[in-house]
Amino acid sequence: MSIAENVARIKEDIAKAALAAGRDPSEILLCAATKMNDADAVREAIRAGVDCCGENRAQELTAKQAQNAYDGVPVHFIGHLQTNKVKQVVGKVSLIQSIDSMHLLEAVDKEAARQGICQDILLEINVGNEESKSGFSTEQIHQILSQMENFSNICVRGLMAIPPICQNSTDNHKFFQEIYHLAVDITAKKYDNVSVDILSMGMSDDYADAIACGSTMIRVGTAIFGARRYS
Ligand SMILES: *Cc1c(COP(=O)(O)O)cnc(C)c1O
Repeated sequence: MSIAENVARIKEDIAKAALAAGRDPSEILLCAATKMNDADAVREAIRAGVDCCGENRAQELTAKQAQNAYDGVPVHFIGHLQTNKVKQVVGKVSLIQSIDSMHLLEAVDKEAARQGICQDILLEINVGNEESKSGFSTEQIHQILSQMENFSNICVRGLMAIPPICQNSTDNHKFFQEIYHLAVDITAKKYDNVSVDILSMGMSDDYADAIACGSTMIRVGTAIFGARRYS
């Protein structure tokens, strides 16, 4: 299957999952997770109609931006961001989806202030409390959000999560629903400088479950580009 055929199939799946949940398919954006795919593959995905691209590494982002690979759609940062790389990412992407620590939040705010911009971000939630994954716990998150008024160069736009790998939809739903309910709670508390328009959850293997539970953005790599070749 070509990249264009894959994107078309995923868009059909999005529409089906949305309609089954009584949702408008246009509420759900398709973010192509482009790591390890070259500029030509990225351009093909954009021509096929993905809504945005998500890159994992600062170096890869910089290299592909120099090739104008993302022309036509917004590019997001979705990988773990080291504080010594914030200069390469802040102001270069429309959304940093993967803010996973207070330390990183401070570094991004400082760099955004230096550039005189407001950087849109998502807070990453470690929904399964997995040791191997970064992100805020659902317990921590309200405490972080109550401090957001102090970060005047950051705009929180929502949440991102990568739930533990599950063997079935029922378990997937449990984690996705936990994130959805967290977003509802956050909205109700009306924190300064915080909105929760974006719920970024769902990848190649579980995007239909994520959409059933309220996802507004799915991040899909393998199902668009095929298996990544690690050399
Ligand atoms: C690679 C990646 C994805 C996409 O994963 P697939 O299983 O290939 O669809 C989504 N989100 C993040 C943060 C990623 O690093």
